[in-house]
Amino acid sequence: MGETWDVLVAGGGNAALCAAIAARRAGARVLVVEAAPKFYRGGNTRHTRNMRCAHETATEHLTGPYTEDEFWDDLLRVTQGQTDEDLARYMIAKSSHMLGWIGEQGVRFQPSLGGTLSLGRTNSFFLGGGRAMLNALYLTAEKLGVEVRYDTPITALEIDNGRFRAAILNGTTRIEARSFVAAAGGFEANLEWLKASWGDRAENFLIRGTPYNRGDVLRMLIDAGVETVGDPTQCHAVAIDARAPKFDGGIITRLDCVVFGIVVNSEARRFYDEGEDFWPKRYAIWGRLVADQPDQIAYILFDAKSLKMFMPSLYPPITAGSIAELAGKLGLDAARLEATVGDFNGAVRSGSFDHTVLDDCRTEGLNPPKTHWARRIDEAPFYAYPVRPGITFTYLGTRVDRHARVRMANVGPSENMFAAGEIMAGNVLGRGYAAGIGMTIGGVFGRIAGEEAARHAVG
Ligand SMILES: Cc1cc2nc3c(=O)[nH]c(=O)nc-3n(C[C@H](O)[C@H](O)[C@H](O)COP(=O)(O)OP(=O)(O)OC[C@H]3O[C@@H](n4cnc5c(N)ncnc54)[C@H](O)[C@@H]3O)c2cc1C
Repeated sequence: MGETWDVLVAGGGNAALCAAIAARRAGARVLVVEAAPKFYRGGNTRHTRNMRCAHETATEHLTGPYTEDEFWDDLLRVTQGQTDEDLARYMIAKSSHMLGWIGEQGVRFQPSLGGTLSLGRTNSFFLGGGRAMLNALYLTAEKLGVEVRYDTPITALEIDNGRFRAAILNGTTRIEARSFVAAAGGFEANLEWLKASWGDRAENFLIRGTPYNRGDVLRMLIDAGVETVGDPTQCHAVAIDARAPKFDGGIITRLDCVVFGIVVNSEARRFYDEGEDFWPKRYAIWGRLVADQPDQIAYILFDAKSLKMFMPSLYPPITAGSIAELAGKLGLDAARLEATVGDFNGAVRSGSFDHTVLDDCRTEGLNPPKTHWARRIDEAPFYAYPVRPGITFTYLGTRVDRHARVRMANVGPSENMFAAGEIMAGNVLGRGYAAGIGMTIGGVFGRIAGEEAARHAVG
């Protein structure tokens, strides 16, 4: 015999839990099905540290106001206009209530963490990180009476003319529900799907988060006629330590030292301006830049002057007493690397080095230039980190409206299907990224999806 629930939520991260709690608080009987085992519950949300929300004044944990207009300007700039303005502005307006709401669900905040991403005014940091945040949400959901099943992937969906009927769990159990919330993440952990858009380059990508976000629910929805949004190659991708594991390396594999040195590819040649802008505005382009290099590998090089200026990766840098020795350790052509470093050093016009401003230390007559923070690499020991593209999450997703209601291609809004989080992030993020928006998208649309799903189910 099958079961019938008011609201079935697919996923176990921020978006799913916000939806489940909101639906339960609105009076619905809610079942959450999480593909991962309990220990690994919570998808990419486990790895997060902060969330970007608009706010009018400084708070105990935020150093100043961040208005809705400023948030919108930031989003417009990073996406280069590739965003659904109506939906994005609506999300930003709702984000100003998010910190209060999520606090009511038991999540605690702390002052901003230091490091090179200066987010103390714009982003609220979770006390204890994403795992602690999730633990609070799970505890609240369970106390409210939400049922959670782990190790329970949705393996099929029954959808008639845009109306959700039932889901098959683990290939065996059939569950009916009056409303369905899809919060099962993107398809970043599905290498075959990544290869379909990136080609064989994707073999060399590392996935920063959960191996469970394979996009199965997204694929089922697309097959059932849901309208998609976004480009399959668009994603959040940063440069991470090439020695990181294939999945789930998390935040400690990210490298934030590009601005302090130079970056060369496997031919020992530079390929992009390492000092183009402040790191928080540029860190998310480096995954894509490395993906375009031969064998999808690059090396960040710097010298003794810079070693203590950034948060190190989990792995120690590769160290050598000379550039030629470093080249040998990296497997690069020594003469070529010496020439690249020599050309760079020769082009540096020294100024007053200050990594907190767009300083006047730059190169002249070099292609590509380094426009800020350029200092000669001439003080042994010399260091290098090998880096590969680290895929955080993908943007291709389901199109939704302000009610987080999924839209069916050529038909309009679905009667009872909603989506939140990575699975619909492409509505807001056509390209680019500003730190902390992933959690805003999941939190705001998760809450809306839960409320709307409950309204549909129990009135
Ligand atoms: C290392 C790292 C650091 C990050 N730091 C930040 C940060 O500080 N701030 C920020 O805003 N964003 C950050 N992000 C991005 C952020 O993690 C995501 O945007 C956000 O967590 C997405 O939430 P979600 O609920 O949509 O997806 P997830 O949290 O990934 O949850 C998706 C869930 O769906 C489950 N699932 C998948 N398939 C199925 C299925 N078939 N059936 C049932 N369940 C399924 C998964 O197991 C998982 O639990 C970071 C990401 C990474 C990888």
